Amino acid sequence: MNLSDRISNLEESATLAMAAKARELKSKGVDVISLSLGEPDFKTPKHIQEGAKAAIDEGAYFAYPPVAGYQDLREAIANKLNIENGIPYKTENIVVSNGAKQSIANVMYSLVNPGDEVIIFSPYWVSYSAVVELTEGKAVFINGTIDNEFKATAKQLEEAITSKTKAIIFSSPCNPTGSVFTKEELTAIADVVKKHDIIVIADEIYEHINYTGSHVSIAALPGMFDRTVTVNGFAKGFAMTGWRVGYIGAPTWIAKGCAKMQGQITSANCSIAQRAALTAITGDLTPTKEMADEYLKRRDLVYELLNDIVGVKANLPTGAFYFFPDVSAFFGKSFESYDINNASDLCMYILETAHVSLVTGAAFGDPNCLRLSYAASTENLKEAIRRIKEALAKLS
Ligand code: GLU
Repeated sequence: MNLSDRISNLEESATLAMAAKARELKSKGVDVISLSLGEPDFKTPKHIQEGAKAAIDEGAYFAYPPVAGYQDLREAIANKLNIENGIPYKTENIVVSNGAKQSIANVMYSLVNPGDEVIIFSPYWVSYSAVVELTEGKAVFINGTIDNEFKATAKQLEEAITSKTKAIIFSSPCNPTGSVFTKEELTAIADVVKKHDIIVIADEIYEHINYTGSHVSIAALPGMFDRTVTVNGFAKGFAMTGWRVGYIGAPTWIAKGCAKMQGQITSANCSIAQRAALTAITGDLTPTKEMADEYLKRRDLVYELLNDIVGVKANLPTGAFYFFPDVSAFFGKSFESYDINNASDLCMYILETAHVSLVTGAAFGDPNCLRLSYAASTENLKEAIRRIKEALAKLS
């Protein structure tokens, strides 16, 4: 008796694995500061909690919801995407799922045949490649470098396209780098995509945490509506990670494929979570903006603190809540029984000796880097970076 090859060969999610490790150490009484999981440290705004409570009290939301989501929620999402993002989606283009993660899985399973290639802009969020693997597609990576804020270019994309390329996927603002693609960069990418007739999966889950002043959706660019899937959700902008509500806006044929997939796997997204999401998307965005303002202050603080550590090379992110510093200057060094040969070694060294959890860049496609989430209190960030600095100084 054994597991399928599919699951045996599948990597565990590195972000969730690090979070579990930090939790385990904490439960043993170790004072761990967790900067591994990309999760807002704020509570879901009160009015959204009230929306969920009201839905329970109403007593009308206990049965299976429609597979693609409640009609009014899908309408509200389409409306938001029209008004805020300039994408003319209708209700039929929207599918609500159990987090943007399931949305992405639905899309991949709906589009990718075994052997199809999906180009992933790297550094990338851990689960993109895992889901492509599950579909038996082939993940092809194009790598951004720190000198270009880790952003892969339209030229690199053009060079990576083959007759087997089905789709591309990237996030902007980006997890793990915090970079934001400009309108010009997205336009150049869109031109390549149109020329080669491929599909774009645009992960915009960090839309509301963007310090550039404007969020550009690639689906809104000329000629892109019919070939783009816009992925978004409520976790990051509304501090609703545990509610698990994500969604896509997509051409109807893809939306239908995703609903078909979802109908066989989860039936639909949780009814009460959908009612909370409806409150969020039709409600006041002030709490969302306040959280983003706070992340910006923390970004500036962390940037200053990281730049004060000799050997750590960090660029200034323009969105999301991550730093992705290059730490390769420490490779080849050691302290007591710890030999640091790569970012994964460094990550474990920092966790075990400084009690700060981070995630190795290897999980995101860049083994020279570490990911640090600054969705944590100022006090914890200061203490965590003080500890990291101390631990790094011991390496020689
Ligand atoms: N997206 C978050 C992160 O990257 C949540 C964890 C996950 O689902 O990977 O940390």
